[in-house]
Amino acid sequence: MSGASAAELPELRLPCRVAPGVYCARCCYGTEMPLTEDDVRRLERLGYRRAEFAVRGPDGVLRLRNVGGRCYFLDARTGACRVYEHRPLGCRLYPLVCVPGLGVTVDPECPLHHLVGREAVSALAPHVRRLVRAVYGRPLC
Ligand code: SF4
Repeated sequence: MSGASAAELPELRLPCRVAPGVYCARCCYGTEMPLTEDDVRRLERLGYRRAEFAVRGPDGVLRLRNVGGRCYFLDARTGACRVYEHRPLGCRLYPLVCVPGLGVTVDPECPLHHLVGREAVSALAPHVRRLVRAVYGRPLC
């Protein structure tokens, strides 16, 4: 991953707003989202400390920290992401996920998964694969 600014990063925007000012955020509860060093640096530039928002799992991978069962950055009242424009690359690409043995696919757990068409999958799959290589050091899908 390069040191791209948030505005340069790829993303998949879905209509997650369920009511004025209220967002679905299902994917932000019990998050296991891995972080790249670029993600961490981008969030640190906002004034957050790595030890607050990230935790390293037994597999050695740095991931978003859950507090009270939800992502550190989630506003539980509105479902809004407090760092939306700067959110981690994996959050930007979700519900695209890497499933070993299957490839890059759309997570059926996302209530809006049916809105993600083949063109979006094809266009963003290389970014998902690059993210996986950056996090795990090897291709998995
Ligand atoms: S960083 Fe934002 S989008 Fe990603 S899991 Fe946390 S609250 Fe959700």
